[in-house]
Amino acid sequence: MDYSILVEAYEKLEKTSAKLKKADIIATLIKKTPYDSLDKTVLLLNGKVFPVWSEREIGVANQLMIRAIMRSFGSKKQEVINLFNKKGDLGIVSEQLAKKKKQTTLGVKKLTLEKVFDNIRKIAMQEGKSSQERKLNLIAELLIHAKPNETKYIIRTILEELRIGVAKGIIRDAISKAFNIDKKIVENAWFLYPDYGKIAQIAKKDGEKGLKSVKIKLGRPIIVMLAEKAPSLEEALKSAGECGLEYKYDGMRTMIHKDKEKIWIFTRSLEDVTSAFPDLVKLAKKNIKCEKCIIEGETLAIHPKTRKPQPFQVLSQRIKRKYNIQEMIRKIPIQFNAFDIIYLNGKTLFDKMQLKRRQILEKQIKEQKGIFQLSKMIITNNLEKAKKFYNEALRAGQEGIMVKRLNAKYQPERHVGYWWKVKPTMENLDLVIIGATWGTGKRTGVLGSYILGCRDAKTGDFLECGMLGSGFKEKKTEEGDVTLKDMTKMLKPYIEYTKGNKVKIKPKIVIEVAYEEIQRSPTYKSGYALRFPRFIRLRSPEKSAEEADTLGRIKYLYSIQKGKKK
Ligand code: AMP
Repeated sequence: MDYSILVEAYEKLEKTSAKLKKADIIATLIKKTPYDSLDKTVLLLNGKVFPVWSEREIGVANQLMIRAIMRSFGSKKQEVINLFNKKGDLGIVSEQLAKKKKQTTLGVKKLTLEKVFDNIRKIAMQEGKSSQERKLNLIAELLIHAKPNETKYIIRTILEELRIGVAKGIIRDAISKAFNIDKKIVENAWFLYPDYGKIAQIAKKDGEKGLKSVKIKLGRPIIVMLAEKAPSLEEALKSAGECGLEYKYDGMRTMIHKDKEKIWIFTRSLEDVTSAFPDLVKLAKKNIKCEKCIIEGETLAIHPKTRKPQPFQVLSQRIKRKYNIQEMIRKIPIQFNAFDIIYLNGKTLFDKMQLKRRQILEKQIKEQKGIFQLSKMIITNNLEKAKKFYNEALRAGQEGIMVKRLNAKYQPERHVGYWWKVKPTMENLDLVIIGATWGTGKRTGVLGSYILGCRDAKTGDFLECGMLGSGFKEKKTEEGDVTLKDMTKMLKPYIEYTKGNKVKIKPKIVIEVAYEEIQRSPTYKSGYALRFPRFIRLRSPEKSAEEADTLGRIKYLYSIQKGKKK
């Protein structure tokens, strides 16, 4: 199929923000896409060339892309960089430079969607010596043959920032529309086969019947059930009714697939991390009794000597590791805490109730205490007992507890109120904005992600401790709403200098920030990083930068986090 057909759809998608319209555009496209190109088309609509569970990353940085643009259009480096600083999007830069280049040599051979797809996949496969050069050639080959508007989307896809606003819900709606199948049926099939490209193909070939017969396949991850945040333990108990309480471990959500001697390990975002965890593979083989099953649990890093739980960031050093795996196994040993079973010997257990699934799970796990065990659980809805259990979890160094309704099915993805998480909330911090990045696409001309700084009380310097981009309003609807535009207007006078799309900002503007957790950070100057920081409100002009929270405060909050001091 011609790549230009997809690009035509990209352009239409970029022009509208209405979800219904987007779904219509995609439905029209996938209806006319031949079966064989459909899986690739849908992946590319999502800006991807690999399904979500693939370990592959395209791995091209702006610098390499700038070289590819220079090579393809004979442009000077400074010209590319100047345009990039102005536009904030190398896709647009390339489109403009391609237009400038003599038209005769451009677009001679029509680019096919397959060629674009294959070249981008090849880029991701390049490793080792002179891989940069090979990547460069593969990109340039596409750019040289593409029309100017096609280069824009090729570049954005390679840089993994397509920015056409197509979330997975829109693709689901489009498939439903194109083949006239109920959304729920499309989504249920996707839970078990999370690749809308393949789902679209099944829908095209075998319709509703085909989608309804999609089954779990061992070795292919499925969408997992999520939890809701409870405002308090009391509320959680009220909402859940008859419930089981479990320790909430701060590690990696882990889905173990077992097919006799074969084991796969997937994360919550469906990545296959089997090769990084040979120790867990061994434990699963030894301690899971059934032949074929999917067991869910949380993998924790534990201290090699004290065997105490370590924060998630310690484990994160192991998650995508390709080298020195054995050494890491020694340095960062793990513990697996099983909490659910969703498939057993050919049968899906989604319709079994929470308590029943737990009972089945208990029969399938041979516990090895402290290493491969069942999550700690009690059954109660007595508030006093629950409080005791919660405090015990915090004292044991865990994150909090999960409250699970006992008569609830397993419902992938939805926050349906079957699982509630209860954990201590961290107090907000007042921090100073010391840097930012110019936005791209729809956010061109607006400062986007902000670098947060805390005050070093000794030197008076402001030290980086996080990057914040969320919590702002799209539009002003109420008094006190703050948009990115407001922030930009406020910060602009304090810009010290610009480098690429990044700006350094004088420490003047103080904002209140909420976050999930404080982590140690080797990259930020403060040595700490806020996890998932969120803008709460402006503190300037009432609060000056000199009154912002200090590094000492962050250190203290870090030390008491997760009940460490209790
Ligand atoms: P959160 O990541 O804060 O949304 O909390 C939900 C996550 O807690 C799940 O995705 C699991 O990775 C993790 N978790 C830890 N312990 C448990 C448990 N006992 N039951 C379910 N999820 C758990």
